[in-house]
Amino acid sequence: MSTFQAPKGTYDLIPPNSATYLAVREAIAAPLRNSGYGYIETPGFENVELFARGVGESTDIVTKEMYAFETKGGDKLALRPEGTASVLRAALEANLHKGGNLPVKLWYSGSYYRYERPQKGRYRHFSQVGAEAIGAEDPALDAELIILAHQAYRSLGLRDFRILLNSLGDKECRPVYRAALQDFLRGLELDEDTRRRIEINPLRVLDDKREAVQEQLIGAPMLRDYLCEACKTYHEQVRELLTAAGVAFEDDPKLVRGLDYYTRTTFEFVHDGLGSQSAVGGGGRYDGLSEMIGGPELPSVGWALGVDRTVLALEAEGVNLDIPAATSVYAVPLGEEARRVLFGKVTELRQAGVATDFAYGGKGLKNAMKSANRSGARLALVAGERDLAEGLVQLKDLQSGEQTPVVLDAVVEEVRRALG
Ligand code: ATP
Ligand code: MG
Repeated sequence: MSTFQAPKGTYDLIPPNSATYLAVREAIAAPLRNSGYGYIETPGFENVELFARGVGESTDIVTKEMYAFETKGGDKLALRPEGTASVLRAALEANLHKGGNLPVKLWYSGSYYRYERPQKGRYRHFSQVGAEAIGAEDPALDAELIILAHQAYRSLGLRDFRILLNSLGDKECRPVYRAALQDFLRGLELDEDTRRRIEINPLRVLDDKREAVQEQLIGAPMLRDYLCEACKTYHEQVRELLTAAGVAFEDDPKLVRGLDYYTRTTFEFVHDGLGSQSAVGGGGRYDGLSEMIGGPELPSVGWALGVDRTVLALEAEGVNLDIPAATSVYAVPLGEEARRVLFGKVTELRQAGVATDFAYGGKGLKNAMKSANRSGARLALVAGERDLAEGLVQLKDLQSGEQTPVVLDAVVEEVRRALG
């Protein structure tokens, strides 16, 4: 193993590509900020109990993918594999739900950890931006979240994504369906692992990616035929609101998702350019989660969008985000006196809000100009002894090569004018 190698299944975000990740996070957050969601940040780890109870003991996330460990002090912790349980835990701890102002709307952005088999679009450390609306049962809230994710993807210039929508029922109708599905599944030719899944989490069998399994699932009972009246009406309203908003979706009666806590509305955003890791984001309603982790009844809905896969989706569609060059002006001093004076100008320009950098390390003119070009700056400020003796610096347009002398005191003003 080389000394300079990131752990398996992880990668570093490095300039210039890292700017795309920041821009993606920003683009996903913007519609949320604009819709009453407040920013929340929770620790990168929690008591392992929270995820075991919240995400579900029968899920792959908890049984196979969680980084769980015991500290020297004997605390049993886990690196967070997802955001919802933590956010709900934090909201309950801070009593946000008691302010008489439901739903509590929160958004977050951060790192998540799952011990998975690494492949393109599937990493052990990845990043999500998510949103949760806690404490209200209202189809408009489900619709709002789907519309905001749609808006975020559109604002990034993505086109080849689809929204899959389903309802998972509630505590009335889901158990009846679950039993019917189990009956059906027990009659199939399935491997040991899958047979076990029938008993603990039968809905997940519908999600099996293997062709041979999918063939046997033809004719399986579908949840939509078991939905109770309340769930049916709720789902119909979500669908109508999406349609009215011009957000296209596909009904996917087999969509179940990997976490135990979902009820009613579930959805996934899939991108058609990503191969088998096609889900760029997903979410749904989780009316029972609060009670599962020991809180009061708080019907809620949320989603998480994967930043890594969204970046891959941009690449797949050949979308280049319009990211402005980090540096607008690059200062090149020739000699000691020029260093002192130009460094002062650099500080002045930065204070005036102009992105400016400086040729550090006593570079010669040729090297310094190379750095100036590499920085992406539009302008260079060049000054030597002779310029300074006349109270001037040279303002050079790095595209046209045109150079104009500028009086020292007028540098900020002239730079601003030249940048437009
Ligand atoms: P998958 O079915 O691909 O495993 P998931 O259902 O486990 O996805 P969620 O828990 O819904 O994913 O997480 C929301 C989003 O986070 C996913 O749509 C995806 O974009 C991203 N994501 C999840 N796991 C990973 C991972 N291991 N590496 C990169 N991104 C991930
Ligand atoms: Mg997964």
